[in-house]
Amino acid sequence: MLTNNLIKELNNTLPKSNILSGIEERYVYSIDASNDPYIKSQIPDAVVFVENIEQVQQVVKIANKHMTPIICRGAGTNTVGACVATHGGIILNFSKMNKILEINAENMTARVQPGVIVGDLQKAVEDIGLFYPPDPSNLKVSTIGGSIAQNSAGARCFKYGATKDYVIDMLVVMADGQLIRTGSNTIKNATGYNLGSLFIGSEGTLGIVVEATLKLITKPQTSQVIMAYFDKIEDSIKSVNKIIEKQICPTTIDFMDQNAIQTVEKFYPTGLLCDKESALIIEIDGYETYIEELRKTICNILRENKASSIQFSKNKQEADHIWTARRSSMAACTKLKPNVTTDDVIVPRQNLAKLVKGIQEICKRHNLTVCMVGHVGDGSVHPQIPIDYNDKDEYRHYKIAKSEIYHLTVKLDGIISGEHGIGLEKKAYISKVVEGGALDYMRQIKKIFDPKNILNPYKIF
Ligand SMILES: Cc1cc2nc3c(=O)[nH]c(=O)nc-3n(C[C@H](O)[C@H](O)[C@H](O)COP(=O)(O)OP(=O)(O)OC[C@H]3O[C@@H](n4cnc5c(N)ncnc54)[C@H](O)[C@@H]3O)c2cc1C
Repeated sequence: MLTNNLIKELNNTLPKSNILSGIEERYVYSIDASNDPYIKSQIPDAVVFVENIEQVQQVVKIANKHMTPIICRGAGTNTVGACVATHGGIILNFSKMNKILEINAENMTARVQPGVIVGDLQKAVEDIGLFYPPDPSNLKVSTIGGSIAQNSAGARCFKYGATKDYVIDMLVVMADGQLIRTGSNTIKNATGYNLGSLFIGSEGTLGIVVEATLKLITKPQTSQVIMAYFDKIEDSIKSVNKIIEKQICPTTIDFMDQNAIQTVEKFYPTGLLCDKESALIIEIDGYETYIEELRKTICNILRENKASSIQFSKNKQEADHIWTARRSSMAACTKLKPNVTTDDVIVPRQNLAKLVKGIQEICKRHNLTVCMVGHVGDGSVHPQIPIDYNDKDEYRHYKIAKSEIYHLTVKLDGIISGEHGIGLEKKAYISKVVEGGALDYMRQIKKIFDPKNILNPYKIF
């Protein structure tokens, strides 16, 4: 009855074609890329496609009246169950709010709606010589709203930082329907609390981002990708630190272990060297005159640290070819078992070798295959574990292995999420890595921003 009234009110307020209320339509929104069937997600009561800020405010008012949750959804590609319903509610779908409102070349900013696809924005700004660096591997589908809410990063984070480093202003609809502006259209802002930073990485639990102004930088003149293979995994990790010690700052320092190399080559062949224990994918960018010198310096360091084969791209097509191989790893893993899970543990770089070796040892002990890739320049790895959820014993081992991986990460002074967020999947672990007092403050902030607990409730904590 309550749900019927909710749907009726939504239908009376918004165009009927913007609301999905059939079970077969709502079911689609009960999952996201976390795909763990043991996550306690529910079918939402309604899915609403919003087209403008006023409609978002109207939906929030209705949700307040019915005390029903609102869960924002970009492309649903988060890997932690961050945009699924746990207690019914309304899924707010931003796919119709997907316009780039302005690219200001003079200010070097872009003003966008939350449903803009990250890759579309990148292409649009690069066409006029500007650059928006944050590059989650699935940038061709994930949205700006989702990236802000998860503080997404990616390979280029090593040199250019994460989404948080590019958001200078936002319009946010609060839990009571009020619209607030969090920043200004300026590169610097020391005016009061940095309110915007609270929303970035908050997984839609504090407010609804309805517009964002993003800082842009100048597009590097050229770039090149170096792929270096190693016979010993330790040598590849050592090379990462040696490059950085020489005060060289490549755009990316990414990693693939042997299982990842072999799995990609098996299902999406690109000519990777399958007999090697690991590979580093190092992208460099800058002025044409400087790139060759830089490449030579990096290649010398790689050789000194026992790289057994080094290749580099001679044009954009070859560079894309290497990145396609690296970015295909998760899709390739799905061919090994019915499902694949990923993670994003991160440690201070000096502890990286211990983390990588430790994860391999844990997975071996639990008879799990792990294909490891990662943004190792940041100290972060993505252990991708193919799994059959119907195999109860395998799932039990997987859960224990996960817990051991988090335990190891903490022991190595790391943290359980560098870029994917907490959502439902990791909420049981947050108290193990965030100290009690800090967690209390986070809970109090949630209460102040959302006293009725209607914005993406029961996520993170
Ligand atoms: C194959 C693959 C590779 C990936 N690689 C990377 C990677 O390299 N780096 C990385 O950081 N991540 C990566 N991810 C994770 C994923 O890309 C990010 O979490 C992504 O940015 C989420 O965007 P989305 O549009 O899909 O958001 P969704 O999954 O739809 O939502 C994510 C969160 O944002 C909230 N949200 C969405 N829109 C809004 C809004 N307008 N206002 C407030 N809250 C909102 C949702 O409620 C949810 O909590 C990868 C995922 C996959 C499947």
